Amino acid sequence: MVKHSSRIYLSQSALKQNFSFIREKIGHNPVISSVVKANAFGHGIGTFVPMAEKCGIRHFSVASSFEAWEVKEALTQPDSKVMIMGILYPDDLPWVIENEIEFFVFDFAQLERVKKVAQEVGKPAIIHLELETGGNRTGLPSAHLDKAIRFMSKNRDHFQFEGVCTHFAGIESLANQFRIQRQLQKFEEMYRKIKKSGYLPKLRHTACSAAALAFPETVMDLVRVGTAQFGLWPSPDIYNMHLQQTGKTKDSPIKRVMTWKTDVMHIKEVKKDQFVGYGTSFQAPRDMKVAVIPIGYSNGYPRTLSNRGYVLIHGKKAPVTGLINMNVFMVDVSQIPDVEIGDDVVLIGKQNNNTITIKSFTEVTNAINNELVSRLPAAIPRRAVR
Ligand SMILES: *Cc1c(COP(=O)(O)O)cnc(C)c1O
Repeated sequence: MVKHSSRIYLSQSALKQNFSFIREKIGHNPVISSVVKANAFGHGIGTFVPMAEKCGIRHFSVASSFEAWEVKEALTQPDSKVMIMGILYPDDLPWVIENEIEFFVFDFAQLERVKKVAQEVGKPAIIHLELETGGNRTGLPSAHLDKAIRFMSKNRDHFQFEGVCTHFAGIESLANQFRIQRQLQKFEEMYRKIKKSGYLPKLRHTACSAAALAFPETVMDLVRVGTAQFGLWPSPDIYNMHLQQTGKTKDSPIKRVMTWKTDVMHIKEVKKDQFVGYGTSFQAPRDMKVAVIPIGYSNGYPRTLSNRGYVLIHGKKAPVTGLINMNVFMVDVSQIPDVEIGDDVVLIGKQNNNTITIKSFTEVTNAINNELVSRLPAAIPRRAVR
């Protein structure tokens, strides 16, 4: 096998712990749908999905029919289900219905088209009606609800009414609570209307990670958990609410699943006053030794970490010197003895007693955790470890 310039390890034990913690928070009954859009938030669908199945997960959510196909390829359990929450092109509908993939419907015209294709395929479409509750992203407006329910009920041979759902507009931030409460009220009001019709869905669901961890009133029959399963807190607010609820001052009930590593490519002695790499952004303040790292912004390492990031070598922090290039960057290893070509370099993760957290990246770059991980290129090999 030809070697890639870096590798990502996924911890099975961390993942198991994270799902146990989520289960503890939501109780015994709700289905956990593992949200694996964006290549499982950069963790790699192909490696991650079987790991989640090992933890007992049998429901996966994605953002497109292409991602649904990726998950289908990765599944190892015959009873695992896939749900598309986002873009579903009409051309893909026959494949989706044929393969019993569940999907969100959020406008009336879509329902009519789905009915026609379901009829042609000869199988019912398994749908989740996404309701507009105030997020103003996707969602069926309440003015169209009666019409939609009547249409589905009249054509019930062609629909499996699997769920009604909504998505909160920023529940991870306490500043948005007034809006979230109104969304929840609106959802309940619309659900009462559906109930009155007598044509009922199997499941109701509204909760994402933040909702599932901190707002029990949002946990219904299924939760759609992305961020938290990877061991990432959705926000400081949600972490602080957990501490408050448990009366602790510090806790780490979820663990980062991902470790990202590469190795030292080259070592260079640099004389005082020399510049390192492109341009003049780093001038050696003294004689120093730098290690060249075979990773750059094209590999998902943010360019904004130029002169600001750290990596771990021999368990010690080595600061980035100069600009992050497309395929390489340099770090200062003057204070780390005996660094050699081929030594392990930790970009994200733990080495001895030091850790590079995903949060440490985002504090510098203003990106959110999810942005950093979801942009890690699919070409980096992922491997499950204990
Ligand atoms: C991404 C997404 C989720 C998961 O959100 P997390 O905050 O990462 O848990 C849930 N529902 C929908 C509709 C989403 O798009």
